[in-house]
Amino acid sequence: MTESENHVIQKLLDFTIPEFYDSLHILFTNCDLIPRLLDENGEQRIVVIEGVNELPENARETVNVALKRWKEKTQIIREKLEIDQTELEKWVKRLIEFIQNPQQIPTFLLGREMIEGLTADLISQCISKYQVQSDIFDKSGVMRQLSKKMGLLEPWSQASVCGNCNIFELLLSSLPQKQTKCSRCEQDMSTVRIYKLNKDYEKLKLENRDLPEFIRAYLESKVPNCEIKSSFPLKGEDGGDIDVYIPKTKTGIECKLFVNPQAEGKYLHSSISEVVKSFKKYVEYEGVKRLIAIVNLDERYREEAEKEIKSKLANAKLSYDELIVVCFSVTNLLTILSEEIQRLKKI
Ligand SMILES: [Zn+2]
Repeated sequence: MTESENHVIQKLLDFTIPEFYDSLHILFTNCDLIPRLLDENGEQRIVVIEGVNELPENARETVNVALKRWKEKTQIIREKLEIDQTELEKWVKRLIEFIQNPQQIPTFLLGREMIEGLTADLISQCISKYQVQSDIFDKSGVMRQLSKKMGLLEPWSQASVCGNCNIFELLLSSLPQKQTKCSRCEQDMSTVRIYKLNKDYEKLKLENRDLPEFIRAYLESKVPNCEIKSSFPLKGEDGGDIDVYIPKTKTGIECKLFVNPQAEGKYLHSSISEVVKSFKKYVEYEGVKRLIAIVNLDERYREEAEKEIKSKLANAKLSYDELIVVCFSVTNLLTILSEEIQRLKKI
């Protein structure tokens, strides 16, 4: 783990206090559930969107009109330049970057229409992406904690629209303000605020390493002399690794974040088989005796999941001493970790 990644993990550790438990739920969020947008360098970034709920009907209408006009305009450009649709779409996305450097904007694109078009495009993308964003960010205070206190979210841009006056405003790389007033009617504009995930945290998230590294660091901070390994490589031919391994107690912790934590029936079974597959390797290749699965499933599926994992491991004739399934909640996670800490202190 790099020093800057470690810095992020230490920051998460600093905030393991009940007041911040809601924000720490970010650890349990599958990165595929967080939307992505192209940034000013044309890179895909994980983003968190705030404030889209405040878009009244007239503002939606303004957005749609601007979008339609923008599409017509780009259609003319497309014909002028004789490029195909996909090429154009890529190209239009890159235009976001030009906004930061207005001198780079092709002169035939300069003007209000472009700013409106891009802002409307951004707002409409945000609305659709917001629907798939996990509800963890909606809780009051979470965005403020993650951005201001923990520094895990970086303000990126803010797009506003006034449905009364059909006015758009786009702020890039600026510190989002609390509320934007329309310059004409002085009413609050409907505002979409976009945050990027801190780059080091984003890397950990994309590699599914944030939760295991957090667990390792938490245990290490409480039992400093005990050896705790993260991403411990397994010897077997099909490889893989143990997310968190405690050699002293032969404990293996598997962290699994499913795309659908509300899974039922067939989907629950297939999610569980992924955990079983890992546990089989833990036992076969490393002789792990205590198996702990930390999953983002709802608590009501815990018993069913545990039963099924046990029965599948029994079918495979694998022996171990203990198996525990821990479901999505910071409290549950910290409870099981303090039990492990007690166990390690006794040895
Ligand atoms: Zn207005």
